[in-house]
Amino acid sequence: MNILVTGGAGFIGSAVCRHLCGNTEHRVVNVDKLTYAGNLGSLRQIENHPNYCFVRADICDEHAISRILGEHDIDVVMHLAAESHVDRSIDGPAAFVETNIVGTFKLLSAALAHWQNLSAERQENFRFHHVSTDEVFGDLPFDGSLFTEDTAYAPSSPYSASKAASDHLVRAWHETYGLPVVVSNCSNNYGPFHFPEKLIPLIILNALEEKPLPVYGTGANVRDWLFVDDHARALELVATKGRPGESYNVGGRCERSNLSVVETICRMLDSLWPRRGGARYRDLIAFVADRPGHDRRYAIDASKIERDLGWTPAETFETGLAKTVRWYLDNPRWWEPIRSSRYAGQRLGAAEKALS
Ligand code: NAD
Repeated sequence: MNILVTGGAGFIGSAVCRHLCGNTEHRVVNVDKLTYAGNLGSLRQIENHPNYCFVRADICDEHAISRILGEHDIDVVMHLAAESHVDRSIDGPAAFVETNIVGTFKLLSAALAHWQNLSAERQENFRFHHVSTDEVFGDLPFDGSLFTEDTAYAPSSPYSASKAASDHLVRAWHETYGLPVVVSNCSNNYGPFHFPEKLIPLIILNALEEKPLPVYGTGANVRDWLFVDDHARALELVATKGRPGESYNVGGRCERSNLSVVETICRMLDSLWPRRGGARYRDLIAFVADRPGHDRRYAIDASKIERDLGWTPAETFETGLAKTVRWYLDNPRWWEPIRSSRYAGQRLGAAEKALS
């Protein structure tokens, strides 16, 4: 099949492109605007692969997207392009409304017109896969409850509200126009090529530079962590085997508090890259004022995708995190230019600002 991946130069999108080229026969067209978060350096290993090509375009440009859909004879759209950082959405929500809501609307419009021109058989097999987040479900108490596909939407941040809005548009394009859509809602990802403003790479890289390790509030907020390559496999299954009109929750059954994540990274670095003089990395932990609207807990019930599509994660949190820490130690050529440009003059996250 010919698969269009939007946002394929980002963290998860690049993992999807690498996975599809490395493990399937599908042709991959990566469409990305290359915002501060997009990085073609994450795609070096497939840039000359015969089944891969990159097109720089903005999903808000409906004409450009329509042309790409036609020229590449697309069978499946995997839509990952988004503004994705919650702290930035608090400081500047407009870009989130523009890309996540308007951009998804433009992409849906282009995809619908493309789909309507396909033969009946190809229409049947076409999929528009919208990649979303568990953050649309809002805040869970510390009581063992889980997000299922039927949990009501209750987003707390401009980021999650914009993702929730786009999920609703996608569902409406199925109900109203018959476009064969599938939606996946995934928990927090981590792994190689993760932009250094996000918690796990920020902590690893600050630690290596002997800088404070910022933790919001008391560090009690809980997230359900999934290794990015496990998510990429789940996304391929949802896009190619998911039932139109359905949504699938994806998560690692790996609940950890932010403080425990930071402490685990510190312990791993203590043995892999010891500090001078026998000091411990955990001594660098610095608690900062909490983020407004900070949801306490996210946790996914992934039994539907496990049962219906046969997916299970391959990594535990400890094995995935060990691979991630090792990758950042081995790949300064990827992250050093990003760290030294301080995100090309973009806003720092609130946790970093609190320390700067
Ligand atoms: P990311 O910020 O690393 O990458 C986003 C990519 O989209 C970048 O390459 C960027 O250049 C591109 N992009 C942004 N605006 C664009 C536009 N207007 N047109 C074309 N390209 C544009 O994000 P990520 O962490 O890889 O997340 C990918 C998707 O997965 C997002 O939709 C996000 O909501 C969702 N998601 C992320 C997580 C997570 O933990 N990171 C969890 C669940 C779901």
